Amino acid sequence: MRSHYCGELNASNISQEITLCGWVHRRRDHGGVIFLDVRDREGLTQVVFDPDRADSFALADSVRNEYVVKLTGLVRARPEGTVNPNMATGEIEVLGTSLEILNAAQTPPFQLDEHQSVGEDIRLKNRFVDLRRPEVQAKMRFRSKVTSVLRNYLDDNGFLDIETPILTRATPEGARDYLVPSRTQEGNFFALPQSPQLFKQLLMVSGFDRYYQIAKCFRDEDLRADRQPEFTQVDIETSFMGEKEIMSMTEDMIVGLFKQLLNVDLGTFPTMPYAQAMETYGSDKPDLRIPLKIVTVSDLMENVDFKVFSGPAVDPKGRVAALKVPGGNALTRKQIDAYTKYVSIYGAKGLAYIKVNDKSNLEEGLQSPIVKFLPVEVRQQLLERLGAEDGDLIFFGSDSEKVVNEALGALRCKLGEDLELYTCEWAPLWVVDFPMFEETSDGGITAIHHPFTAPSCSVEELKANPLTALSQAYDMVLNGTELGGGSIRIHQSDMQQTVFELLNIDEAEQEEKFGFLLDALKFGAPPHGGLAFGLDRLVMLMTGSASIRDVIAFPKTQSATCLLTQAPGEVSEKQLKELSIRVRKPVVE
Ligand code: ASP
Repeated sequence: MRSHYCGELNASNISQEITLCGWVHRRRDHGGVIFLDVRDREGLTQVVFDPDRADSFALADSVRNEYVVKLTGLVRARPEGTVNPNMATGEIEVLGTSLEILNAAQTPPFQLDEHQSVGEDIRLKNRFVDLRRPEVQAKMRFRSKVTSVLRNYLDDNGFLDIETPILTRATPEGARDYLVPSRTQEGNFFALPQSPQLFKQLLMVSGFDRYYQIAKCFRDEDLRADRQPEFTQVDIETSFMGEKEIMSMTEDMIVGLFKQLLNVDLGTFPTMPYAQAMETYGSDKPDLRIPLKIVTVSDLMENVDFKVFSGPAVDPKGRVAALKVPGGNALTRKQIDAYTKYVSIYGAKGLAYIKVNDKSNLEEGLQSPIVKFLPVEVRQQLLERLGAEDGDLIFFGSDSEKVVNEALGALRCKLGEDLELYTCEWAPLWVVDFPMFEETSDGGITAIHHPFTAPSCSVEELKANPLTALSQAYDMVLNGTELGGGSIRIHQSDMQQTVFELLNIDEAEQEEKFGFLLDALKFGAPPHGGLAFGLDRLVMLMTGSASIRDVIAFPKTQSATCLLTQAPGEVSEKQLKELSIRVRKPVVE
């Protein structure tokens, strides 16, 4: 239908007759001349209709925003003084000679340039309109470029793109499953994959050697700002490659992606053990753009006459730690109160602090409600350990190790943002040496990565000390966000069975849920490993988007619903009957 896209016209097209198709972005009546800004995915072009062509003029006069039109005209230079340097096609305009209305449009639920004044719910409900906005279009195009660059890299490196089932059995990644009832097997359910984990491992057992897939994953979790119930992974698995080789290859892929699309050089990623990340940054995904570090001071506080510190200091599961904010002395009481409230979200019961006014005067130079509890030698050692200077502020966390890490870890990021402490734009790293397991609140243990991750020790060692055993897992982190994570997998059935046993999965359950995997491991499973990148988060970071929803064409809300289609919805009695399902409506109290 068209000869050109609206957005691609420029001075080189002057004097050409062209045909455009697109949407009326704006219509202006300038004293007898009608201007239409016509839009398509490549951009806007200004088209002028003169009254001397009565037919097309009358039609142009009748169109409204978002009408779909086809027009033919002559490209000409804009008259002197009307060139628009802010517009890609600002040097030219089209003198319209004919116009056809391909489809009328009702007044849109919101004007594209007024999207900010309508709530996100209105935009999501009318996402087909929202997706017309040039900024959103740019994000979708960028996303498409990201997948194309990654595919090219993987294709060039011998990876095969293989699809795995969506209707399957539970693939445990630690979340709740989305279930699909089976009609043919009454009372039985498929689970949607939380990831293609087990299938990609089976593909290695089958000898495909290198696999990838841009895969949809489904996790029924309580949603946080950067989560969606269905999301996309760039899922990768390889055989006969060790941890270092997999990390270096995928690092090369991500470095190439940033270079190609953003012209950013991410450099060589540092590697940090999990224990160090938790100790120094209170997080397994430290944001290394922020220079603040958390320092353990438990040993200094063991004997102080202040239970809030001495209690956790002597508790093997407790921790007392300090976070020095250079120049933080300037923080007001009000700001400190706000940070105290902030850390309470993470379970901290308070936020002790010391303002260092004059470090040479340990009696009077430290300003703090708690300093009176600290003997002078403790004050001295504390300032030395933290390298504190006059004008600094020191925050404290004292509680269980978990609460201290979470609270000070989050505070560190908040301070970094509020006080604009970032030292660079991009800070990537690998976090390695994760523990295999962690304790659950009910005293059991659970896998930190997933139960198919290989430990760094033997079966005997793992059985003897499961909670201190490390795994061969690795996470790629960028600016405090986990971009991807993976591991070397267990490829021997006795080790896999040991891990299941430690996780309290008895033999019958192992057989029922994972019999196929245990079998596969007995029939020639190669050493293998891989990882998966969260595509949505990657694109969100690369485009500087505030929310993961901004880079997904049809996202769901925080309550896991689709405002556009109104899913999930009720189904008919007939459908339920076919599925042998009777719905138990929640009892309204
Ligand atoms: N399946 C893992 C996940 O979804 C990634 C991996 O281990 O490859 O987190």
